Amino acid sequence: MVAGEAKPGQFVMVRTSGTLEPFLNRPISIHRIDEAKGIIELVYQVVGKGTKLLSRISPGQHLQIIGPLGNGFSWQTGFKRVALVGGGCGIAPLLALAEKLLENEREVYVLLGAQTKEKLLAAEEFSQLGCRVRISTDDGSQGKKGFVTQLLEELVNSISLDQVYACGPLPMVKGLIKIAEEKGIPCQVSLEERMACGVGACLGCACPVRNPDGTVGYKRVCHDGPVFDAKELLLDNK
Ligand SMILES: Cc1cc2nc3c(=O)[nH]c(=O)nc-3n(C[C@H](O)[C@H](O)[C@H](O)COP(=O)(O)OP(=O)(O)OC[C@H]3O[C@@H](n4cnc5c(N)ncnc54)[C@H](O)[C@@H]3O)c2cc1C
Repeated sequence: MVAGEAKPGQFVMVRTSGTLEPFLNRPISIHRIDEAKGIIELVYQVVGKGTKLLSRISPGQHLQIIGPLGNGFSWQTGFKRVALVGGGCGIAPLLALAEKLLENEREVYVLLGAQTKEKLLAAEEFSQLGCRVRISTDDGSQGKKGFVTQLLEELVNSISLDQVYACGPLPMVKGLIKIAEEKGIPCQVSLEERMACGVGACLGCACPVRNPDGTVGYKRVCHDGPVFDAKELLLDNK
C-alpha cells in the first residue's frame, strides 16, 4: 500500500514492533519504490537507540510504518539536465528520484558525498541506472577529497543545469543553495530536521520560511516538506 502511493522524496515513520522504547517513531526516507511488487526499500545509518533497534530486526519481523508522508520532490517536463546532490544518509531519497527522472531520458548528474568510502551509499546503484556519478569523501578514501559542494561548484562551472535537487546535513545544504543561487539554478532541498509526530500535529520540526509577501513564517518540515524550494527557506538562523 505504501509502495502504491509513494513518490520520491517522501518518507515513512518507523518503529520496531512490540516496544515503546524509544517512544517516538523515526523518520526514514523512501529509498526505492517497486510499485509492481508492493515493496519500498529504506537505507539508514545507525546513530542512536531507534536505528540500533531497527538494525537488530530479523527477516520476516514486523515493523510499524506510517506513510508515505511529506510532499516529495517535483519536476517539470521541460527539465533536461539535472543534478542530484546527496550527503551522508541524505543520499537515501535521491535514488527513487533518479529512477523517475531517467524515465524521461533526462541527463542526470549525481554528486555523492560521505565522510569515508565505507559510509558512501548507493553509488553503484546510481551508476547502474545510467546516472553520471561523481563522488567526494571528507578523507579522500574514495573520489575527490573534500565536500560534495565542491563537486557541485565544478559541475555548474562546466555545464548548464536546469535544476538541482539535494538532501544532506545543514552546512552542505546551505553551501549548495548559495552555489545554485549564484548561477540562477532552481533548487529543491529535502531537510533532515529532527521530528516527533511526522504528520504536522506537534510543530516540533517548524522551520523559518520567507512568505510570498516578504514576511517571515514557519512551515512544518514533516507536513509542508521535507522538500522545499530553496528560495523560500531562511536557514541562516538555524
Ligand atoms: C525526512 C527525514 C528523512 C530521513 N531519512 C533518513 C534515511 O533515509 N536514512 C537515515 O539513516 N536517516 C534518515 N533520517 C535521519 C533519521 O531520522 C535519524 O538518524 C533517526 O531518527 C535517529 O534516530 P535514533 O533513535 O537512532 O537516534 P537518536 O537517539 O534520536 O539520535 C542520535 C543522534 O543522531 C543525530 N540525529 C538524530 N536525528 C537526526 C536528524 N533528523 N538529522 C540529523 N541528525 C540527527 C543527532 O546528532 C542525535 O544526537 C531522516 C530524517 C528525516 C527528518
